[in-house]
Amino acid sequence: MMTPPPPPTEEAARKRSASDFVFGKVIGEGSFSTVYLAKDIHTNKEFAIKVLEKRHMIREKKMEYVLREKKMLQILSGCTNYFVKLYCTFQDAERLYFVLTYAKNGELLPHITKNGSWNLECTKYYAAELVLALEQLNDKGIVHRDLKPENILFDENWHILLIDFGSAKIMTAEDKKENEEDGRKRKNSFVGTAQYVSPEILRNLETSYASDLWALGCIIYQMISRSHPFHAGSEYLIFQKILKLEYEFPEDFDETAKNLVKELLVLNPTKRLGAADIKPYSSIRQHEFFGDIDWDNIGPPPKILPRSPNSSKSLDKDNKIPDHLEPGLDSEKASRLQLDMLCQTSNTPTRKKSDGNRNLANLDSSEIERRLELQKLDKWHNLVEGNLILKQGLVDKRKGLFARRRMFLLTVGPNLYYVDPATMVLKGRIPWSAELRTEPKNFKIFFVHTPNRTYYLEDPEGYALEWCKSIDEVHAYYFPQSVLP
Ligand code: ATP
Repeated sequence: MMTPPPPPTEEAARKRSASDFVFGKVIGEGSFSTVYLAKDIHTNKEFAIKVLEKRHMIREKKMEYVLREKKMLQILSGCTNYFVKLYCTFQDAERLYFVLTYAKNGELLPHITKNGSWNLECTKYYAAELVLALEQLNDKGIVHRDLKPENILFDENWHILLIDFGSAKIMTAEDKKENEEDGRKRKNSFVGTAQYVSPEILRNLETSYASDLWALGCIIYQMISRSHPFHAGSEYLIFQKILKLEYEFPEDFDETAKNLVKELLVLNPTKRLGAADIKPYSSIRQHEFFGDIDWDNIGPPPKILPRSPNSSKSLDKDNKIPDHLEPGLDSEKASRLQLDMLCQTSNTPTRKKSDGNRNLANLDSSEIERRLELQKLDKWHNLVEGNLILKQGLVDKRKGLFARRRMFLLTVGPNLYYVDPATMVLKGRIPWSAELRTEPKNFKIFFVHTPNRTYYLEDPEGYALEWCKSIDEVHAYYFPQSVLP
């Protein structure tokens, strides 16, 4: 057994490096980062360390995003609740490291999908915590701009912790001016996530705190109905619906919640509930929906039951750092931990080309209905917004040095969703348009080109050509005019 290293001197405590931590396992992946569960070798304290590859950040021109996130987390470091704390940052030749509070109970999103035990009491409690978090953001002059269930995590006591401040903005007078200039320079740029983005961000108008209130309305809607208020087959169509405020409530939607959501999902940001409050967000606090909430002491959270017997084990028990690991992170170790994660997910069943004829043009409506009924038994069904799955399979989505293994789900709509098979969380979808085009490189590798981005994909089982063919068929069906004679 190794003898533990001596406690750090004051100087060492100030200046940490990767060798002060044992990196246990990959607990999350973003577009630009890999997040590891790690243990400080001096204190045994667990942290989540967000690691960003410098080469990747520079190539994708994302340094601004990283610096912004660091700045925001530093500003929020004085807040004791509702935000991950940034303990320290350091770098080596290849990577940047953010040492963060470890959110032991994972993301909110899986709890509010169809199979969860989530109820109205949970919605009230966590919507209230979100309001308290937004009040603190407002107090610090920060607009998050990418508030969504994937960016809301739970700490060990099941209180929320907001993450991902790379899109945030500071609303000081100086920054406001910068925002305006920035907005003029970068017309049509869009931050956030399609389902939660506010109409003013879509229209390139000035961002304000009210953009987060719009997202709050979308999240409360989703917590109650288990689906997004604005959903459609492509980002473009979602944006159209947002701009026209085109959404509906399911019949059984709680009436007071409905009223609150309606007051938050207002096109004019200045008219949203809370936007004009002298003391933010007193009018939201006073809304009837929060009648039972004691805002000075909201008390312990309601019990959230595990989503399934398996999911309860997935977080805490599996997230133990083995004793034998050496401190530090180099490329070899990073790849091994990445591989460990991929191996853990490789038992997920994939549907192969032998699944029968799934060509959209050959399906009539009764056949679609029949298949949809069968699909309801499929564990992926709840992630595809009720759309019929035409093809599915595990595909490695490559970004920079690393590939993330994702379950790709090609559906009518058209949609090409990708899901993290370990957490069953929908990570995104490839936006469809007439310009979308596939390019097979060999039996394993294929590209999907969209106007804003090329997706580098690899089918480990060698069905890249099948993927391209299926995507092309769906594309030809929905965009017949774009097919060259
Ligand atoms: P995006 O693609 O949204 O820009 P990103 O690169 O900014 O992502 P994050 O969203 O910060 O990365 O983190 C990626 C994932 O890692 C999160 O979805 C979450 O599941 C996990 N994660 C991040 N921070 C923590 C934390 N402090 N504790 C536990 N898990 C975390």
